[in-house]
Amino acid sequence: MTTIADNLQAVKARIGRAAQAARRDARAVTLLAVSKTHPQSRIAEARAAGQHAFGENYVQEALEKMSALPESEWHLIGPLQSNKTRLAAERFQWVQTVDREKIAKRLSEQRPAELPALNVLIQVNASGEKTKSGVQPSEVLDLARIIASLPRLRLRGLMAIPEPGAPRERYAEVRQVFDELKKRMEVDTLSMGMSDDLEIAIAEGATMVRVGTAIFGARRKEKSAA
Ligand SMILES: *Cc1c(COP(=O)(O)O)cnc(C)c1O
Repeated sequence: MTTIADNLQAVKARIGRAAQAARRDARAVTLLAVSKTHPQSRIAEARAAGQHAFGENYVQEALEKMSALPESEWHLIGPLQSNKTRLAAERFQWVQTVDREKIAKRLSEQRPAELPALNVLIQVNASGEKTKSGVQPSEVLDLARIIASLPRLRLRGLMAIPEPGAPRERYAEVRQVFDELKKRMEVDTLSMGMSDDLEIAIAEGATMVRVGTAIFGARRKEKSAA
């Protein structure tokens, strides 16, 4: 039976090969372990195998896991409703799904003064994606300027979720938006790629891949709301 440590090794090997094929340094690609629906014990196993950063989709579910593994870095990667911003601002180190001014302002206002600024990514919706979350590429710069002006947020870059089987051009389009943003602001993170598509994402410049299934195994049927 394969263990989580084995799975992590295998995913890191995939990242290494993909980076090499793209003539990139594998160390420039961060692995975020997506632990949604999986119990604390499995996350602790990943932690023991050296995994540092974890992604969760639901604020409430994440809080319980965080208290058991306080040394880890927690990323919110699910849609954020405005009534959940306070807990997100207080407990996470990163929020990857900022897609409107209202959410950004609340996160900044609610980020506790004693903590470092909250790292945020703008979720961008490349052309043709069916999901309603995410800003259009043409709106990224306006939102980026707003976020950059908020004192308790630190804009780190972009996040995208190309739908399963999306053509390579979709990834390239996100990369272009990221490159444009980089010309104007100091951003360093392009979060793109999951268990099934991390190779394409790395070929198109992803600096962070969010991997669940390939580390923790299949999830049971998911809830539909954050
Ligand atoms: C669930 C999820 C992932 C992980 O997907 P896998 O296919 O299990 O690797 C990555 N990103 C987001 C936003 C997710 O919701």
